[in-house]
Amino acid sequence: MGDPPVGFDSIPTGPPPAMGSLNHFRSLSFWLHAVPRDLGDRVGHTPLSTPGPGSSSWNIPSLTTDARRPSLLAARQGTQCLSNWPFTRERYIAAPNADGLAIPRQNYGDRFAARLCRLCNSEQESVYHFANSCPCPAMQAARADLWASALPFMRDLLGRLHELARRTLRLHPQAPIPGLSAADSVATVQLLNAPGTPPRTPETNFLAYWLLMAAPWPARVASEHAPWQPVARTFGALFDIVSLPHSRVRDLANFWSNWADKRIFALARARLIELEARGEAA
Ligand SMILES: [Zn+2]
Repeated sequence: MGDPPVGFDSIPTGPPPAMGSLNHFRSLSFWLHAVPRDLGDRVGHTPLSTPGPGSSSWNIPSLTTDARRPSLLAARQGTQCLSNWPFTRERYIAAPNADGLAIPRQNYGDRFAARLCRLCNSEQESVYHFANSCPCPAMQAARADLWASALPFMRDLLGRLHELARRTLRLHPQAPIPGLSAADSVATVQLLNAPGTPPRTPETNFLAYWLLMAAPWPARVASEHAPWQPVARTFGALFDIVSLPHSRVRDLANFWSNWADKRIFALARARLIELEARGEAA
């Protein structure tokens, strides 16, 4: 892996840059670059956490068995998704005109404008803001639903990752996985089994967003940043270990992408319904 050139420091503790799809794509992978020799040339696959040119291993939606995750694919474009379905009722592109040409809506260019959240007027609007910090009651309720779904999802994801890590390392199904911290594992179990919505911390903000974007991360992202981020580090360590042919991680990719797609759709609709109730829908 090459060194991260820029932008690495602020990622785990704040909203990732999400203006522009390329910027957002890079921020989800922490601007980490893998050189071609790291990208599975010899064995045909790379760890889930390895981003880089030509790598599809880290890009979970690309490993699914179909492409029908429209909310997830929209959200991965960054904040421009807020001007399009499912965050609006309409799609960008209107029905074809009399000449058979599909024409963009009049406000097509507005999708790149940075805007304050129209629900709370306190922070720039983004999926990160809705998933983590929007104080609007409608979004707080949506966030409680998100976590009610996220905790069992994360428990299941963790179990699947353990199994895939053992397959990667060719370990007995019950064997402990080397490299996982016992203290981190205890803290992970505690968070995943705690009742209700976990308190908002840099770590839970990070987990909510990267899980919603179906983007695996390397353990170093959580290891190099205070405060202690045991759950993010545990998942990161497993993403670093799991390196299998694509066919063997497709079930994981489908499971993760399905969850993320449904939860992004739910957040989008909660926001849209609230905007419509106020007469402010785009
Ligand atoms: Zn807000």
